[in-house]
Amino acid sequence: MNQLELVVNSLSRLPGLGKKSATRMAYWLLRSDNSFNKTLGEAIIELQEKIVSCSVCGNYTEEDPCPICTAHDRDRDLICVVEHPQDVMTIEATGEYKGLYHVLNGVLAPLDGVGPEELGLDRLVERTKDEGTKEIIMATNPTLEGDSTALYIVRLFQDEPVKVTRIATGLPVGGDMEYADRLSVARSLRARQDLAD
Ligand SMILES: [Zn+2]
Repeated sequence: MNQLELVVNSLSRLPGLGKKSATRMAYWLLRSDNSFNKTLGEAIIELQEKIVSCSVCGNYTEEDPCPICTAHDRDRDLICVVEHPQDVMTIEATGEYKGLYHVLNGVLAPLDGVGPEELGLDRLVERTKDEGTKEIIMATNPTLEGDSTALYIVRLFQDEPVKVTRIATGLPVGGDMEYADRLSVARSLRARQDLAD
């Protein structure tokens, strides 16, 4: 395999990139300014070197604990539970939410071997005790797995002094929060419902 093929093959493994787009990109990179390629290459290498998971909330961060966990102006009564670090970014972009987060890095999927232990749900329970959390907002995606994860967490907290709410289904059913627009995310946060009802 020559160098060009190597780059095309690597790029085509990126999500959403077919062989055709990968080829177009590889040719573009070949023609482009060498300093651009160097900066891009180094930035990609440093991505994993510089960014770690926050040991408190699981979000991606350059400092551990992350700036959200250590902030003094956040509402520490609230923890919003999301599937992926990108969801934190989506919710932060609405400017609507001032509480804390908990990133599951997945959802319950027993058939794929993802149970409560794999998601570290005991850590979430411990955390709510440490923080004195009053409300958990389930912002997992409106999919079958996202919904069953939310219901599992309701049961997990039924004897704890914590209210569990679910963001309203303003998001497209089966959809991904990542692709929802800011306004729908803000609206679904505001119209969240108590899951114990
Ligand atoms: Zn954090």
